[in-house]
Amino acid sequence: MSRPRTVIIVGGGISGLATAFAVQEQAAAKGLPIQCTVLESDSSWGGKIVTHRIGNLVTEAGPDSFLSQKHAGLDLCAKLGLTDQLINTNETGKKAFVLHGGRLHELPEGLVSFVPKQLGSFLRSGLLSWTGLARMGLDVLIPRSPSDNDESLASFFRRRFGAQAFERVLEPLMAGIYAGDAEQMSLKATFPRFFELEQQYGSIIRGMMATTKRASPGPPNGPTRSMFVSLKNGLSDLITVLKARLEQQGVKCRLGCRVEAVRVRSYQLGRWMYDLILEDGASLSTESLVLATPAYVSADLLRPLTPIAGELLEMIPYASTATIAMAYPAAQVTGAVEGFGFIVPRIAGRNLIAATWTSLKWPHRAPTGQVLIRCYVGGVGREAILQLDDVELVATVRAELSALCGIKAEPNYVKVNRWWKAMPQYTLGHLSRLTQLDATLSCYPGLVLTGAGYRGVGIPDCIRDGALAAAKIIQDLSGTHPS
Ligand SMILES: Cc1cc2nc3c(=O)[nH]c(=O)nc-3n(C[C@H](O)[C@H](O)[C@H](O)COP(=O)(O)OP(=O)(O)OC[C@H]3O[C@@H](n4cnc5c(N)ncnc54)[C@H](O)[C@@H]3O)c2cc1C
Repeated sequence: MSRPRTVIIVGGGISGLATAFAVQEQAAAKGLPIQCTVLESDSSWGGKIVTHRIGNLVTEAGPDSFLSQKHAGLDLCAKLGLTDQLINTNETGKKAFVLHGGRLHELPEGLVSFVPKQLGSFLRSGLLSWTGLARMGLDVLIPRSPSDNDESLASFFRRRFGAQAFERVLEPLMAGIYAGDAEQMSLKATFPRFFELEQQYGSIIRGMMATTKRASPGPPNGPTRSMFVSLKNGLSDLITVLKARLEQQGVKCRLGCRVEAVRVRSYQLGRWMYDLILEDGASLSTESLVLATPAYVSADLLRPLTPIAGELLEMIPYASTATIAMAYPAAQVTGAVEGFGFIVPRIAGRNLIAATWTSLKWPHRAPTGQVLIRCYVGGVGREAILQLDDVELVATVRAELSALCGIKAEPNYVKVNRWWKAMPQYTLGHLSRLTQLDATLSCYPGLVLTGAGYRGVGIPDCIRDGALAAAKIIQDLSGTHPS
């Protein structure tokens, strides 16, 4: 048997681990012997995926669920034998609210997926004035943009639906996902579907109606999935099971292993060997290198090899956020919000981006008699709150909960999770920068970048991008001889 080919993946978040899984799977399919190693600088696996279990409470410090419509998440769970652990959101009480005019208004049904299923509920919500509604309806008449240029989310949605619909409803939905500023975010990089709908149908409303009618009903015998799904005992189970499976397959998984520098040397015409310098001074060599680290880390690692790649990577900004989980005796908060939670538009000038009633969304995450609420703060232009210490931060968040939904009770559990430089921002020109990056790195065969910083921030996006990174590596190794 020939000597195994070497692959090192830097970063043990979902992107790095999913890449390792796909490398193993695709190498096995090709009969290619591989020695794969994953290096993680932290003392635990999973990156942004962190579940805390305290007594009967299950709280997520980072992501709490993932989109089921993007299949990569469900598919990975199936391959790992986790399908029976998948849970839907609670069918009862699945309303969501948005702050407007100092009080919470119910979001029109289906709007959370940007598809207003019943326009009547939009009319009844009281969120928009009659002129605002009429302006929104003009979308069916306004001609498509003749330009193919990238456009900001704010510009696109103001142009199609008017300022009111954008500022009161669409902006907070989008900002909640990216913790970003819609004035700077690229439509094509974040919500390309809307660009396509405009181009194809000349109207978002008409396009949505046409595509909703044609939408496939999903797998015939598969279980029905809610739009967002999670794992019964928390998303970190995905990480635990994935990492255990990788080790069973012979992948070396090393924690506390920070890569400080990458060097490159030629070993064949047009082929490179990558030397990784670790924090303790040790070095590792590999034919194939996947950087599944945040873009600013990859920038530092690649700058000495290619300053242009370093510069392009550095141009991907990251926003800092925090989540604050709080548990209350149910009797003290009953009636505050009868739904999954609320979102807060930027124009409201509040610190809160959103608050989720976790124990209603996923009932078994808190024991009966407890209400678990998760607040989300920070994001582009709203990061000042993160300078507060935990006591001040919690006091600020509680004051806003009190003002917005009347919760004055003392929580019996509080956990603050700070996420510094955590959410990549796909700003205007993001996609063309990625194209330049690909061109710049094309002279380094065997070197691939993956992770939330590039082609999607959601967990299924990261898993899918990891599989694409693995495909590049395997294709590259299959076409060359061992060093
Ligand atoms: C608060 C919050 C809520 C979110 N909610 C959702 C949600 O509900 N649903 C959803 O789908 N997505 C959500 N996301 C987004 C999603 O969680 C992330 O985009 C995704 O987990 C990122 O995975 P990743 O592996 O690309 O990056 P990371 O998780 O950041 O992993 C990168 C890893 O690289 C390691 N590393 C860094 N430098 C080095 C080095 N020099 N050497 C070795 N290792 C290094 C880091 O320690 C880290 O573990 C949320 C994110 C946040 C922050």
